[in-house]
Amino acid sequence: MKKRNRKIIISFVSLLFSAVLLSYITTPFEKDFYVNPSSDSKKQIALTFDDGPGKYTQELLDGLRERDVKTSFFLMGSKVEKHPELIKQMYDDGHLIGCHTWSHISFFKSSMDEIHAELSSTNELLESITGEKVQFFRPPYGYYFGTQLNKIDMIAVLWSDTPRDWVNIDIDYICNYIVENAKDGQIILLHDTKDATVPAVLKAIDILLDEGYEFVRADELLCRNGDYLAAGLAYRYCPYNGRAWYI
Ligand SMILES: [Zn+2]
Repeated sequence: MKKRNRKIIISFVSLLFSAVLLSYITTPFEKDFYVNPSSDSKKQIALTFDDGPGKYTQELLDGLRERDVKTSFFLMGSKVEKHPELIKQMYDDGHLIGCHTWSHISFFKSSMDEIHAELSSTNELLESITGEKVQFFRPPYGYYFGTQLNKIDMIAVLWSDTPRDWVNIDIDYICNYIVENAKDGQIILLHDTKDATVPAVLKAIDILLDEGYEFVRADELLCRNGDYLAAGLAYRYCPYNGRAWYI
């Protein structure tokens, strides 16, 4: 009898373990995303800007337009509300419009209901300006649990490198960091809400363009090898010959 009980307990525990494991490795979303890459260069970088729009965004957008450089923005709904015209310019200029929640919540401290509300209110506002569905988001601080991502019908984009422009506020430091660490396939985290970032980035772009680098949107970079991107996963890097890295 004792032996039989132990068997039942072991079967029950293994069943429970398999169910938990399965919920981690499967994603409930069937939709895949793909965009045709505009170039097959081996020197591509995706610059990404979080927390905006802010008071330096206009200067950044004008500098990017002048250089015909495309980037990606992860925007906060509470700020989008105050500057819809900047979102319109981003969209018209061909930048990727992504969501960074309404009020920069930490997923570690939030319920799924709060997360869904923060994402959908921001997406609805962005979509009312651009007319296009928002498919990409970046969780604030890069914080999230895998089980949360599986419940969000969007593609998460993290980053592979950053000059940490929220603590390093020197133009030359930020510019040199980007130039010295430039590498094909990178997704770089930056903030258009920091005053040193915009002049630093524009300077770094000029140097790297001279070195033959191309700047592309994060979605283009991640699809460069023919990969389809899936909702419920978090992407962070894409080498020239290989699959997009995700967690
Ligand atoms: Zn942020």
